[in-house]
Amino acid sequence: MSVLEVIRDACPHCEAMRNIRIVCERETMKIRGEDVEFDSVFSVCETCGKDFASGEQMDAEIESARAVYRARHGIIGPAELVAMRARYDVSQKSFAKLLDIGDLTINSYEQGVIPSGAHNSLLKLVSIPENFLRLYSSNKSKLSERQKAKIDRALARLAIQNRATLEVCESIPPYGKDFEAGKK
Ligand SMILES: [Zn+2]
Repeated sequence: MSVLEVIRDACPHCEAMRNIRIVCERETMKIRGEDVEFDSVFSVCETCGKDFASGEQMDAEIESARAVYRARHGIIGPAELVAMRARYDVSQKSFAKLLDIGDLTINSYEQGVIPSGAHNSLLKLVSIPENFLRLYSSNKSKLSERQKAKIDRALARLAIQNRATLEVCESIPPYGKDFEAGKK
């Protein structure tokens, strides 16, 4: 157990202000029947010696265990999901309609819940714009005109960016030639 810092805070056991150690310890949590080792941060009162965790610490604990599990299984995370929706400029509701997943489910994934295997595969597929475009083309009748206009604009922007990237790549002289020139 390592001490990260000592702060003055209320101890729920003493029911008084105390010196509280914020400590870090390796712990194991079961996620989907699997042992996941992670760094747990919690509080220890210097007076009574008892430990406790704030709501924030408990949330952070679950999130760090989930992060380990996600990394181990290549599972898409909340930040990636939010970033993907922003890239396509699609709301949670519309995204859910396109994917045929409940919008509360999408929301829970963005709050950190780990997607099911099938949903994870689907989400990773549509993170590639070409795949999203395919899905969008066949399901866009489910969306409002306003949503469609926003997504169309976002996809057009992405296409322009891709083209720009390609042009930049093509304008760079071949590596070998440059390297030879540099040697002279
Ligand atoms: Zn105490």
